[in-house]
Amino acid sequence: MKRFLGRIGRSLVRFSLKHWAGALILLLLLLAALTGYQMWHLGPVMALALFPQLMICLILIGAVVAVRRAIRAIATKDWVQSGVAQGRTVLKTTVEEAKGTLASLGTDVKRDLERFVGGAAEASAADPPVRCPRCGRVSRPGARFCEGCGAALYIPCPRCGCAMRADARFCMACGAALGRMG
Ligand SMILES: [Zn+2]
Ligand SMILES: [Zn+2]
Repeated sequence: MKRFLGRIGRSLVRFSLKHWAGALILLLLLLAALTGYQMWHLGPVMALALFPQLMICLILIGAVVAVRRAIRAIATKDWVQSGVAQGRTVLKTTVEEAKGTLASLGTDVKRDLERFVGGAAEASAADPPVRCPRCGRVSRPGARFCEGCGAALYIPCPRCGCAMRADARFCMACGAALGRMG
């Protein structure tokens, strides 16, 4: 019988340690119920005297609930939320970097294209006719391709990307040598 009671006591202690907040709330609820019963039983004069006790019980229940919630929040914050936040930061940084790279790449491509198209228009309007590097025919001003063989008369500069006359030996924008003109 004694051993049986001891075992019950031990498991009760284990339970209270594991579910301390629940046990405490249960105890306080019991106390509050007892106080309420006494207030109802003893009449309004005694009820007034017992009222603070009831309030203390209710406040303690609220405090226990709040503490349990705070502990859970801290535990979650420390072990889970920090991991989530770290993952989010890494993801955000990666996305930002990718976005930046894509944006600069897009700007570069757009600038080169604009320079090439604009340069070609400028050059074709002002420059003398281009002599075709392949067949030697001189096309009319403004021609983009050779009228005799279809070769491109303007090519992008290998260094700066602007439109170069195909018969030019050097880029007029950056001075890069085309190298293949003889
Ligand atoms: Zn040609
Ligand atoms: Zn150039």
